[in-house]
Amino acid sequence: MIIKSATFIASNTRSDKLPPPVIPEYAFIGRSNVGKSSLINMLTDRKGLAKTSQTPGKTQLINHFLINENWYLVDLPGYGYAKISKSKREEWEKFIRYYLRHRESLQCVMVLVDSRLEPQKADLDFCCWLGENSIPFVVVYTKTDKQSRVKTDQRAAAFRKAMLQYFEEMPQQFITSSEAREGRDTLLAFIDETNKG
Ligand code: GDP
Repeated sequence: MIIKSATFIASNTRSDKLPPPVIPEYAFIGRSNVGKSSLINMLTDRKGLAKTSQTPGKTQLINHFLINENWYLVDLPGYGYAKISKSKREEWEKFIRYYLRHRESLQCVMVLVDSRLEPQKADLDFCCWLGENSIPFVVVYTKTDKQSRVKTDQRAAAFRKAMLQYFEEMPQQFITSSEAREGRDTLLAFIDETNKG
């Protein structure tokens, strides 16, 4: 897929103010600092489209970007930030979970996982919740330029093993690095192929 246009459409703090669900959308989510903004900017080839290194857990916004006039890239707030207050976390839970469960135009959730870490409970819990709610998702490993390919493969295998405790099959996985622009074509091709718009 060639990115011809990428336009910011709206930031929302409430699910009932979102753009009408008439265009297929792909939502990006992960633990705070996982590299989500960098990945969005790398995929769209727009440096400042998603703001990088924001204070984690501060703003709970759903950002819609219209890509090529035919799909929405949705930037969801990060989860699993230790310092976030309980009330903020509950707010996140309600808002994002509601969005994920009820958004009829949602095609797939891209769950970003830091390729350098052991399987994290927050990631596994979140994937399980998606599974329980029959929400389609894939796993996207980030920051792979920070280590050898062998290490990335080991981490991915460990995550897969942890997932298979709960899932019969491992969802599709993608290896990416925003720094090295790795995985861009594969991820965009996946979106192209699954986009039912
Ligand atoms: P977000 O909080 O998930 O949106 O994460 P950011 O995109 O802001 O990235 C968090 C930090 O990780 C920043 O310092 C980025 O420069 C760095 N980072 C993100 N992606 C990569 C990557 O692919 N490679 C490297 N080396 N650093 C990355």
